[in-house]
Amino acid sequence: MKYISTRGRVGPIEFQDAVLMGLADDGGLVIPDSIPDVTDQLGAWRPLDYRALALEVMRRFVTDLPEGDLKGLVDKTYGPAFEPVVATVKVGPLYVLELWHGPTFAFKDIALQFLGNLFEYILAHRGGCMNILGATSGDTGSAAIHAVRGRRGIDVFMMHPHARISQIQERQMTTVLDANVHNMSVRGSFDDCQRIMKDLAGDVEFKRKRSLGAVNSINWARVLAQIVYYFRGVFDVQIQTGSPKVRVAVPTGNFGDVLAGYYAMRMGCPISQLILATNENDILARFFNTGLYAREKVLHTLSPSMDIQAASNFERYLYYKVGCDAQRLREMMEQFAKTGSLRVEPGPDGTVDEHFLAARGTEQECLETIRKYHAEYRYVLDPHTAVGVAVAERVALGGSSAGHAPDDPVLCLATAHPAKFPDAIFKATGRRDLARHPKIDALKNLPARCAVLPNDREAVRHFIERTILHPPAVDTRDQS
Ligand SMILES: *Cc1c(COP(=O)(O)O)cnc(C)c1O
Repeated sequence: MKYISTRGRVGPIEFQDAVLMGLADDGGLVIPDSIPDVTDQLGAWRPLDYRALALEVMRRFVTDLPEGDLKGLVDKTYGPAFEPVVATVKVGPLYVLELWHGPTFAFKDIALQFLGNLFEYILAHRGGCMNILGATSGDTGSAAIHAVRGRRGIDVFMMHPHARISQIQERQMTTVLDANVHNMSVRGSFDDCQRIMKDLAGDVEFKRKRSLGAVNSINWARVLAQIVYYFRGVFDVQIQTGSPKVRVAVPTGNFGDVLAGYYAMRMGCPISQLILATNENDILARFFNTGLYAREKVLHTLSPSMDIQAASNFERYLYYKVGCDAQRLREMMEQFAKTGSLRVEPGPDGTVDEHFLAARGTEQECLETIRKYHAEYRYVLDPHTAVGVAVAERVALGGSSAGHAPDDPVLCLATAHPAKFPDAIFKATGRRDLARHPKIDALKNLPARCAVLPNDREAVRHFIERTILHPPAVDTRDQS
């Protein structure tokens, strides 16, 4: 398996080079040059535990690493300290795939813990060091920081929008005092942070000189690691229901999570439809229902990790949508960069892709769903998952426009533990005791380190250069 760029001017390259490259050097995203069909493996894969399944999925995409080494990485990542990796539970009318059992209580740990081990492995074999540059709307940052903290040869520079992520999300990052962790609080929106990151990572000379790597969801290894849990969750629902196919609802922001579902479906995972749920930042829902992808102002919602108006992984999907025509894609992306919109021709019913059912969930629906699921099923949803569940209930379980697969059971991905978002839970239920976790409670009293920077690319570049030249002293304060 080789890797190429969506914009056609990189590759073919090997998996490890694709992982190190992050954003492709031609400004596109790295993708595999083919999608393996595993339909004839499903029966053999269904009973596998998470580690064995992960190895089966990944080894089809990772062909430049001895299989024993890949197995070592998978076993190390999804070992006893990370169990269960995922859990499928029946809640009311649907199934919930809990993806938040990792160290920062969000689904991003599943891919980033793997990526941390992979980076360390690659650097140990090739020598050299790496500076990871990231932009986070909350959960990516802490998951990335926890994935690489204390690792040799890796520094992480993480931007977050100043005062626009939750206190808990902020403290999950800034209380990590390892000398290789550098938090930057940028006075702007998440999209501003993401633009600065893309500009710096797109500056090929700076990227080479400073060995920049990416952990944002554009990194192919993250998408790859996420493909695994679609198979696991869908198998779990099949085992419990006997249904040949499953619909999967995905609370969506940057299109990274649902993109993995798209790959899983293309590989033959028995998903009849992906239910793409956005919050009121609904650029993707509008796209799938009209063909027009048009950026608007970012609204701040109760589900901040989905407050995104330019989904960084969308380009990968679009590449397939335009028939793998890199030239055409490049023109579309250039037009989007210039004008803030692009368009594809929708089908006769107005929608773009029969495999996607897309809709947005409002703030009101989010709160009402949290309240209802606690009152009726004693299950506390985090506000991101609640958007997914609300949309799934409305468009897939309401008996209305359920497309070609009206009766398949619905699995909703649960992307965070509710204790990360206590204000939303309080707003929905009037209670502060429902969403607690001792590790999250403990964050309040820990010391923190963070630089506040203006919304300016050069200020960020300067901070990175200065920090590389003058690293902070190792902080030995008690971090327990
Ligand atoms: C990141 C995140 C999302 C959105 O995932 P994407 O891959 O950006 O679509 C949803 N919920 C939570 C809790 C997240 O952290």
